[in-house]
Amino acid sequence: MKKLLFFSFTVISLGLNAQGLVNSTLQQNHHHESEGAIGPQCGSHLLMKNQDKKQPGLLNASNKALQNIVENLDRSNKTTSATLTIPVVFHIVYNNADENLPDSVIQHQLRVLNDNYRRQNADTTSLRPAFRPYAGNPNIQFELATTDPNGNPTNGIVRTSTDIQHFGGILPYNINQQSQIQQWVNDSLFYNLFRISQDSLGGSDAWDTDKYLNIWVGDLRIFEPQIQNFEELVFLGLAQPPANHPNFVGTGFDTLIYDEGVLMHYVAIGPNNPISYPAPYAGLNNTLADGDLVSHEVGHYLGLRHIWGDGDCTADDFIFDTPLSNNSNQFSCNKNRNTCVDSIDGVDLPDMVENFMDYSSDACLNSFTQEQAAVMRATLFTYRPNLFTIGQEELPLAESIECFPNPSSGHLKLSSTAAHDDLEVKVYNSSGALILVKSFSAPSDLELYLEGPKGLYLVQVNSAKDQVTFRILKN
Ligand SMILES: [Zn+2]
Repeated sequence: MKKLLFFSFTVISLGLNAQGLVNSTLQQNHHHESEGAIGPQCGSHLLMKNQDKKQPGLLNASNKALQNIVENLDRSNKTTSATLTIPVVFHIVYNNADENLPDSVIQHQLRVLNDNYRRQNADTTSLRPAFRPYAGNPNIQFELATTDPNGNPTNGIVRTSTDIQHFGGILPYNINQQSQIQQWVNDSLFYNLFRISQDSLGGSDAWDTDKYLNIWVGDLRIFEPQIQNFEELVFLGLAQPPANHPNFVGTGFDTLIYDEGVLMHYVAIGPNNPISYPAPYAGLNNTLADGDLVSHEVGHYLGLRHIWGDGDCTADDFIFDTPLSNNSNQFSCNKNRNTCVDSIDGVDLPDMVENFMDYSSDACLNSFTQEQAAVMRATLFTYRPNLFTIGQEELPLAESIECFPNPSSGHLKLSSTAAHDDLEVKVYNSSGALILVKSFSAPSDLELYLEGPKGLYLVQVNSAKDQVTFRILKN
């Protein structure tokens, strides 16, 4: 890593300072839009805006269309609450041994992704109480593909050696050429990055994007020969959503090159990556320590926008149960922020720095909301019907739990014909007093004894989502 030149203009200093020509230009041009474009970031929204420049109106149309999908959520998402499983292929495109990440890093990353998308991440307990009523479980599971597009067995990890050292490309300009740099970002940067998804351009061809989630992993930096060969990190990751997804520009993309899926800088993969971010990006080693960024990018891939709506308090992410905020959380974890007045069920909630679709440090990211979860599932049912398989639907308790005999001498048995985790049983007497609480998991049986006089008792069985009550006569 070569030493940096000092710039002749002021760059806002926020600890994660960009220190490269492209980020400096983006900051200068976008500061007034509250982009949150300070230092390395997610490139998904800039990808949308880039396409909007080429086909004006796309961004507006996609915003309106997302509102439609939210309004129609009940209709599109009512099919099932069962687990949806998506096969994933990781394309490791490497120019050196560091970039050729071992399987163990990919596998660990996948576990983090699955924990986050099934709300099994340990840090959900850190979600502030005000947000708990809105926390959502997408119930989506990701599995490394076991069969490739030709029907051959695979471990879901494709390794491709490349001559390309920087998929961001080589910037032919110097510090005094800001307008040329902006033009280069508009014309070349995204094309350069998506070379990683093309065999013929030094990358690795997508597997059928209707049937697999493709995640490309490589060096996404930009090489800048005119500032002493600086390697600039602009995008940590970015996502190309399913074609025609209304929240994104879909049809506007040149899909010949901009293949659908997720692009990740190789250092941003996994919590156990052996490679660290070098100076001046070393701060990211702590900020992105848990591997949550892939969950953020997959959120974009499944139709979500940044929680602050990529703008000020007037910009929305079109999700009802996320509070407004006027900017990203800038990789901090500031729970005192409440940047916009809003009303969710009558309450002005603070900025939700715990949300995976904010730019917070991994240490405080832990949740999606219920509506975000519903939008992602609706995206799959609506736009990617061939991408996922549907798991076993959990049977309603009323159809699977029995309580007998009735009438009874007081000795009862609860038995289930289906699996249920973490059931809670409450027994009430005829005057409504709670006389017994027990927990069990089906299909094992539970024996109960009704203490007390003859008469009517209520036996109530609760799961996280469901409830059934039996009226039992003790005689
Ligand atoms: Zn993003």
